[in-house]
Amino acid sequence: MFNLILFGPPGSGKGTQSAKIIEKHGLKHLSTGDLLRSEISRQTALGIEAKKFMDKGELVPDEVVIGMISTVIDANPTCSGFLFDGFPRTSAQAEALDKLLEFKKCTINVMLALEVGEEEIVQRILLRGKTSGRSDDNNESIIKARIKEYKDKTEAVADHYRQFDKVVMIEGEGTVEEIFEKLDVEIVKRIPAKEQEASTLND
Ligand code: ADP
Repeated sequence: MFNLILFGPPGSGKGTQSAKIIEKHGLKHLSTGDLLRSEISRQTALGIEAKKFMDKGELVPDEVVIGMISTVIDANPTCSGFLFDGFPRTSAQAEALDKLLEFKKCTINVMLALEVGEEEIVQRILLRGKTSGRSDDNNESIIKARIKEYKDKTEAVADHYRQFDKVVMIEGEGTVEEIFEKLDVEIVKRIPAKEQEASTLND
C-alpha cells in the first residue's frame, strides 16, 4: 500500500491536485470535507451535527471525523493506497490515523505540504465561492476563521510527521500543471515498483 497525505491550508489546491494524483496513480481519494458535505446533503445525524461547526469555519470534533475515516478505511480492504485530503487536521487525528494504518500493517509513506500565502488563499476561496455553492467560501470572516483554525490546530500535524522525516514542502503557487509536476516527482520517487507497474497498466 502507498498512503499519501496532501497537506496545506484551506484553498491551497488540495482538491484540484488530488483529482490529478488519483487519476495517475489509482489511489483511493479520501477527503473529509467531501465526506462531511455528503453527510450534510443526505441530512444524516452526523451531517446535521457537523454543519454547525462548518458554518462557523470551525473544525468538526475529532471523534466525528475519526469515526467516519475509520469506516471508509475498513470498507476498502484491497485498495492500492489512500490519498488523504483535508485529514488529519489535528494531532489527535494524526495519532488515530497512524493507529488505524498500523492495524492494517501499513503506514503513511509521505506528507506533501502545499505552501501558499494567506492573501492568495483568501482570494482563491472567494473566487471558488462564486461557483462552489459552499456557504463557507463566500464570507471573508468565515474564511479567516478557517485560516485561524489551520494555524492553531492543523499546522502541528506537519510537526507530527516531521519527527518521522515524512514531510516534503511544495511551493503551491503557479499553474495547476506546474504544481502537479512537483508533487508527482515526489510520489514517483517513493511509490513501490509493483504499484507503479499497476498504474501504468491502467493507463
Ligand atoms: P478547505 O480545505 O478548503 O477548508 P474542506 O472541504 O477540506 O475545505 O473542509 C471544509 C470544512 O469541513 C472545514 O472548515 C471543517 O469545518 C470541516 N472539516 C473537513 N475536514 C475536517 C477534519 N479532518 N477535521 C475537522 N473538520 C474538518
